[in-house]
Amino acid sequence: MSAAKPTTRRATLPVSDHRPAAYDGPTRDQILALRREYLNPGILTYYKQPLCIVEGHMQYLWDEQGRQYLDAIAGIVTVSVGHCHPKITERVREQVGKLVHTTTIYLHPTIVEFARELARRMPDGSNLKSSYFTSSGSEANDLAVLMARLHTGNHDVLSLRNAYHGGCHSVMSLTAVGTWRYPVPAVAGVKHVEPGYCYRCPFGLTYPACDMKCARSVEDVIRYETSGQIACLIAEPIQGVGGTVCPPPEYFGIVYDIVRKYGGLCIADEVQTGFGRTGAHYWGFQNWGVVPDLVTMAKGIGNGAPLGACTTRPEIAQHMAKRLHFNTFGGNPVSVLQGLATLEIIDEEKIQQRANEIGGYLKDRLLELQERHSNAGADQSPNREGGVANQGVGCGPAAPFGARADSRRGASKTHPTGSSNDGAKRSPDRKGGVAGQSPDRKGGVADQSPDRKGGVVIGEVRGLGLMLGVELVKDRQTKEPATAETADVVELAKDRGLLLGKGGLYGNVIRIKPPMCITKADCDFLVDCLDECLALAGQSA
Ligand code: PMP
Repeated sequence: MSAAKPTTRRATLPVSDHRPAAYDGPTRDQILALRREYLNPGILTYYKQPLCIVEGHMQYLWDEQGRQYLDAIAGIVTVSVGHCHPKITERVREQVGKLVHTTTIYLHPTIVEFARELARRMPDGSNLKSSYFTSSGSEANDLAVLMARLHTGNHDVLSLRNAYHGGCHSVMSLTAVGTWRYPVPAVAGVKHVEPGYCYRCPFGLTYPACDMKCARSVEDVIRYETSGQIACLIAEPIQGVGGTVCPPPEYFGIVYDIVRKYGGLCIADEVQTGFGRTGAHYWGFQNWGVVPDLVTMAKGIGNGAPLGACTTRPEIAQHMAKRLHFNTFGGNPVSVLQGLATLEIIDEEKIQQRANEIGGYLKDRLLELQERHSNAGADQSPNREGGVANQGVGCGPAAPFGARADSRRGASKTHPTGSSNDGAKRSPDRKGGVAGQSPDRKGGVADQSPDRKGGVVIGEVRGLGLMLGVELVKDRQTKEPATAETADVVELAKDRGLLLGKGGLYGNVIRIKPPMCITKADCDFLVDCLDECLALAGQSA
C-alpha cells in the first residue's frame, strides 16, 4: 500500500485583503495555562498545540500572531455567511447600543419579524410557522421532543445511530456516537435505529440491492421494542458529527411513513444542514422529499449568535401553553437581530446557490483527490457514476469494518504524543501573513504516530453543497479507519493554514463545512493542501 505523492503544485492560501488589528492581549501560552486552571477540562481544544484565534473576517481567521487561516469548518458549521460579516456586524452594533436584554415577557418587534421570516422559508403548505427560540441546538431539540410527546401522548422516541443532537442530558440520550456519551443512565424511552450509512452498511448489504433494509428495519424496532405507539423520530437529514453521513434518497421517505404509521411525529434536526448549506435546497430535509412536523435549528441560523429555534405547526406548539415555560435568553433582541440579518444576507448574496455551485466544484475536486489517494489493489472505483452515488449519497460497497475491530483498537491505543517537528520542516514556505511561517511551530504532526502500519487513502467523499465529508481509511477494501492518520492530516493542514473538522465514530472523517462565502480559489487551496497532508501522513508510516 502506498500513499500518493503530492502534486508538485504547492498549496497557497489566498491572502485576504482584511488586515487584522494588532493583538496585545495575553500570550497563547498564558491563555492555555489559565484555561487549564480555570476551565473544565471537558471543554476540548483541537490540535496538539491549541490554536488561539483572535479575529475573523468572512472565510478567514487570524491567530494572535497575525497568521491567517482558511476556516473550513466555520466554527463547527455555524458561521454561515462569513465571520463578522460587515452588514450583520453593523446592525448588531447598533442594537447593542439600544437594548440587549429584557426577556420575552415584553413585546419587541425583532423576535416576531424573525419568526415570520423563518415561517416564510418553510415549505409551502407545511404550516410550520410557530417558533420557540432558544440559545442552543440542544435546547431546541429538547423542546421538540417535549412537544412531540405532549402532542401524541406517547413517550418513545426514535433517534438514529451515529446521530448527534446535543450535549445536555436529555439530548445526549438521543445522541448515538459513543464518544459523546458519558456513562450515566440515559433518559428513558429512546430507541436507536439504523441510519442510511452505505459506506459502512450495518447489514453488510449494497445499495440498491439492499432494498433499503436500514430504513425498513425501523419498523422492527418499533414492533419489538415499543408498545407500538411512539412520540417521534428525531434525525439529522445528513449526519454531521457522525461524519457527514448521507442516506440514500429514499431513506427518509420510508422512515417517515413508518414513524407516522405508529403515531409518531417527525423532527428534522436542521442544526447543521439548514440555511442553504446543502446547496440544492434551503433545508436539508428537502433533499429527501419529506416534510417534517417539527424543525430544529441553531448554529447557521445566526452566523455565530447564541441562537436556536424549534418551529412547528400551531396545533403542536399549543401544548406548551398548558404549563409555565420560560427561556431567559431565547429570543434575545441581539440574537434574533443577528438571525434576521443572517437570513437577509443568505437571500441577498445568494448563499444557497453559492453553496450549490462552489460545493459542487469542491466535491468534484475532492473526488479527483480520491482517485489520487487510493491504494493499489482496491477494485472500488472512486468515481461514483449515476443516480444516487453521483449525488454524493454514500453508497459504497458493503464491507463493514467490524471484523477488524482488534487491530483498530491496537492502533489507537498506541497513538503516541511525540513531539518531532519534522512536519514543520516539511511545511511549504509561505509568503505574507499566513499560517505555516511560525518559528515556534513545534510538534510537527506527521511523525507523531510511529506505530502506523500503512498509508492513508480516501475511502469515500460524500455530502451535498458545502457540507462535505472525506472518510479516510488504511485500505479501501477492508475500510479499516485511518484514525491516527486523520488526526495527523488535521494537524498538518493547520500548519499550512487550513482549519478542518473531524468526525465519525472512529474520528476518521475530515469534515469540510466552511462559511458559505468561500471562493473557488479557497477550494483549490483546500484540496491541494489536503493532497500534501494526505501524502505526508502516509509517508511517515
Ligand atoms: N444538533 C446537531 C445536528 C448538532 O450538530 C449540534 C451541535 N453540534 C446540536 C444539535 C447541538 O447544538 P448546541 O451545541 O448548540 O447545543
